[in-house]
Amino acid sequence: MTQWEAVIGLEVHTELKTATKLFCGCPNAFGFEPNTSVCPVCLGLPGSLPVLNAKAVELAIRVGSALSSRVQASQFHRKNYFYPDMPKDYQISQYDVPVNAGGAVVLRSGKVVGIVRAHLEEDTGKLVHKGGDGRIGGADYSLIDYNRSGVPLLEIVSEPDISSAEEAKEYVSELRAILVATGASDGRMEEGSLRVDANVSVRPVGSTELRTRVEIKNVNSLRSLGRAIGYEVERQISEYESGGSILQQTRHFDEASGKTLPLRAKEEANDYRYFPEPDLPPIAPLQAEIDRIVGELPLLPAGRRVRLFGLMPGASSDQVEVAVTEEVWPYVVAGIEIGVAPELVLARAANELAALVGNAGFLTPERFAEVVALEERFSPSQVKLLLKEAVSFDGTVDELVAKVGLSSSGAEDVRAMVGEVVEANPEEWRRFVAGDAKVAGFLLGQVMRKFGKAISGAQAKAALEELARGAAGL
Ligand SMILES: [Zn+2]
Repeated sequence: MTQWEAVIGLEVHTELKTATKLFCGCPNAFGFEPNTSVCPVCLGLPGSLPVLNAKAVELAIRVGSALSSRVQASQFHRKNYFYPDMPKDYQISQYDVPVNAGGAVVLRSGKVVGIVRAHLEEDTGKLVHKGGDGRIGGADYSLIDYNRSGVPLLEIVSEPDISSAEEAKEYVSELRAILVATGASDGRMEEGSLRVDANVSVRPVGSTELRTRVEIKNVNSLRSLGRAIGYEVERQISEYESGGSILQQTRHFDEASGKTLPLRAKEEANDYRYFPEPDLPPIAPLQAEIDRIVGELPLLPAGRRVRLFGLMPGASSDQVEVAVTEEVWPYVVAGIEIGVAPELVLARAANELAALVGNAGFLTPERFAEVVALEERFSPSQVKLLLKEAVSFDGTVDELVAKVGLSSSGAEDVRAMVGEVVEANPEEWRRFVAGDAKVAGFLLGQVMRKFGKAISGAQAKAALEELARGAAGL
C-alpha cells in the first residue's frame, strides 16, 4: 500500500484596517446598509480615476516586515475577468512585482512555512443569492452590494510547505495573530476579514513531485478549513488508489455535506490578460519610510512567547498561548512592569482575565496589575473576587477593596489572627515553639479555617514562624 502525504499551500486574503477604501475616499466599514459606501471610483463608472491610499501601503509593509519579507518597489496590474460583483470587469492587483516578496511564518511547533509574496489588491463587491438554498444554482435572483468593492486586501501566499489539515489551521491562526498584532487586520474571520483559499495535492511519502492541485475557494473559519482539507486529501488519495486522476479545478467546500464540490476548471494566469494599471504610478517606498515602519513594529506573538518563557522557563504553554493573544497581552505587560511575580500575572491573566475579555469594563491593564499585586495581602480567592468586581467599579483600588468589604489584612492583622489561634491551642503551640515541625500543619489549618477568607496561607505561615521566633527569644 502506498503511503500518501498532503502538499498544501494557502492564500490568505485579509482586509486591511484602513479608514477608507484602497482607491477612493469611501469608508471601509463592515455592516453598512447595502450600497451606501460607494462612489464613482469603487462602482467603476467611466471617467473615474483611482488614487492610492497611503495607509494601505503602510499596513502592507508592516505585515511584510513582520513576516521577514523583502519590501520592494511594486506596481499594480489589471487582472481582467467578468463577474457581476466587479463593475470595472477587472480587478486592480499586484502581479509580478508585489510589495512584499519572500518571508516565513514560524509555527508553534517550530516548523517554518515559507511565504512566496504578500501583495495588495482591491476586494470585489458581494453577491447575495435569494431563494433556493442561498447558493447561485437554485436562486430566484441575486443582489449585489458594492460596499466591499475597493476595500484594501493583502493576499499572503504561502509556499506548499504545509502537510496536514491540522498544520494548515496552525498556520492560519499564527498568521492571524501576527496580522492582529501589527494592527493590519481585526482578524474577524466570521465577518470575512480573513478568507482562505487552499491549494491541495497529495503525493507518495518520500517523493518530491508536485501533482495536480485543486484549489478550495473562500473558506472562512478555521474549523471549515480543517474539514475541507481533510475531505479533499482523502478524496484525492482514493482517486489515485482506484487508478483515477485529479483534474486541476477550483472547488467549493459545502458545509452541510462536509464535501468539496467542483466550481469550475482552474484559470491559468494568462487567462487574466494581466497588464500594468495605466492610471496608477509604480510605488517606490523610501528606505527611511520602511525603516520607520519596521522600527514601529510591536512585539509579535513569537517574541511574546520568548519573553514569557524567558521569565518563567517552566511556564504552562497553554497559559502562555492565552497570554500572548492581542486581548490579554497588554494586561500581562502591565502586571510584569509594576513588578508583580510573573507566575502570578500569568495565572490570573490566563484564567480570570481571559474569561472577562471583551467585557472587561473598568478593568484596564493598569487596574488588573494593581489588583493582582494585592495578592501579597489577600488570598487568591479574594483577588479573584476583586478582579470580577473591578469590571463594574469605577474608583480606586482602595475603594474597590472597601466596596467588596474585604478586611485589608496587613501584617498587624495577620499576627493578631494567628495569635488568636495560638492562644486557643496552647499545647500545640508549646510543641511548635520547641521545634516540633509536625504541628505546624495543624496550627495553620486552624488559622485558615477561621481566617482563610481574609489571609493567604503564605501570610499565615510567615506570621506563625515570626511569632515562634519571638516566643523562643531568637
Ligand atoms: Zn468609493
